[in-house]
Amino acid sequence: KIEQPFGMVIFGASGDLTKRKLVPALNRLFEAEILPERFFVLGAARTRMGDEEFRSRFNTQPDLLKRFSYTRVDYQNPDTFKSLKRVVDDLMKRFGVRNLIFYLSVPPDVYVPIIENLSKAGLNTETSRIVIEKPFGKDLKSARELEQVLQRSFGEHQIFRIDHYLGKETVQNILVFRFANFIFEEIWNNKFVDHVQITIAEGIGVEHRAGYFENTGLLRDIFQNHMLQILALITMEPPSSFNGESFRSERVKLLRSIRPFPVEDLENWIVRGQYGRGTVNGRVVPAYREEPGVSKNSSVETFVAMKLFIDNWRWSGVPFYLRAGKRLPKKVTEVAVVFKRIPHSIFPNVPSKDLEPNTIIFTIQPNEAISLEFQVKRPCPGMTPQLLSMDFRYEDYFGVKLPDAYERLLLDVILGDTTLFMRRDDLEVSWELLDPVLKAWESDPVRFEPHIYPSGTWGPKEADLLIERDGRRWRRP
Ligand code: NAP
Repeated sequence: KIEQPFGMVIFGASGDLTKRKLVPALNRLFEAEILPERFFVLGAARTRMGDEEFRSRFNTQPDLLKRFSYTRVDYQNPDTFKSLKRVVDDLMKRFGVRNLIFYLSVPPDVYVPIIENLSKAGLNTETSRIVIEKPFGKDLKSARELEQVLQRSFGEHQIFRIDHYLGKETVQNILVFRFANFIFEEIWNNKFVDHVQITIAEGIGVEHRAGYFENTGLLRDIFQNHMLQILALITMEPPSSFNGESFRSERVKLLRSIRPFPVEDLENWIVRGQYGRGTVNGRVVPAYREEPGVSKNSSVETFVAMKLFIDNWRWSGVPFYLRAGKRLPKKVTEVAVVFKRIPHSIFPNVPSKDLEPNTIIFTIQPNEAISLEFQVKRPCPGMTPQLLSMDFRYEDYFGVKLPDAYERLLLDVILGDTTLFMRRDDLEVSWELLDPVLKAWESDPVRFEPHIYPSGTWGPKEADLLIERDGRRWRRP
């Protein structure tokens, strides 16, 4: 149980994230009796409503709702932050709270005015914390501008940049699998690993977020954060300890070793796609350009596949194939570490090229699991190998539903533990890698027009070529 009382001010509390993720996570922490005796939640947004109406939006424990209240703010108007301060001061006295958490659950264009107005009103005290959600800027320049504003008002230890993938049990388990076992780490390098594939697939399309997505695109939405963070956890060197800065430093060190993309022949490294009409689960779905809120000739990508190298001793020469997209055949996030083929087959009529290599697969979501694929003897006369998969499924073994990422991350914010959050240099490095790609796409829209793929397929054929040119194939998760 947490001892330290706290108050959480949620900006944009009238929105989707608050209802779907933040309040349910608080509710589960409350039910598990982890939250301290004294805490409050103050919703703040432009919508006019009273405390009761605010509480009525959530389906949670009445004892939790008693601690909820609401106040109106205009994010751009410093005067409303003066009245916000009076409301906050009052709640802090009433609940005996010193620590404040400001959660920015608003669109990114209002981050800067909110941070500046918090400062002007003197709400950015030594004991306060601020939580921001992706996207962290649109490119390197805007990310740096946002960082400057943040750093003027808060110290690095007070800033919590959420990448909710880092809050997932299965993502954290990559670290336990690698660093709490002896047998795998010895083979986790270019002597044994042939290549690695990471897939972040969604079955759904842009849904109600067209406005956001038209300004963002898939590279910014998934690669700048989740994809690179997963890649880092799979490939980073062991830190001397998990807590504190050493973990974050090793992670950033890995990201720094990714080879920059050659802009001259970018097509051979990164494929852009956009979903066209197609069939998903027997239902005909519209093309991206036919979705409400999307421009008829939008050239925003909904799919990206890329190949990259990590230039360090451990990974030199090992290709990493990464892909993510919307309207793919199913929702799945998986990492497959594919080992080398055996050097020579001793089995008659079974050339080594016909023996599928060993693969370790981390299924991050859904059906969270770790699998090892290996060859066994098929029970029959002769020596016929067959590939099979040994699976550890979280659900079978632990029998519990895994906690939502926000539960873990909110808990860490309340405890003041920044380990699982992105550091300033995480952003800097990831934008340095992707900024030249975005600039190249923007500067030559004809050359980099996204390839259209039918909804319900694994992306454009160019993505297949990207890996097949190297004599390899995408897995079909
Ligand atoms: P949202 O529902 O679109 O917006 C949250 C609130 O912000 C709205 O209720 C609205 O409140 C205010 N708002 C909306 N548009 C605004 C505008 N143009 N100017 C000023 N205020 C505006 O957003 P959300 O889905 O809750 O997401 C919040 C943040 O989390 C965003 O940065 C988003 O990118 C990020 N995020 C969300 C998800 C998710 O699953 N929803 C996942 C990852 C990251 P008032 O009108 O009452 O002020």
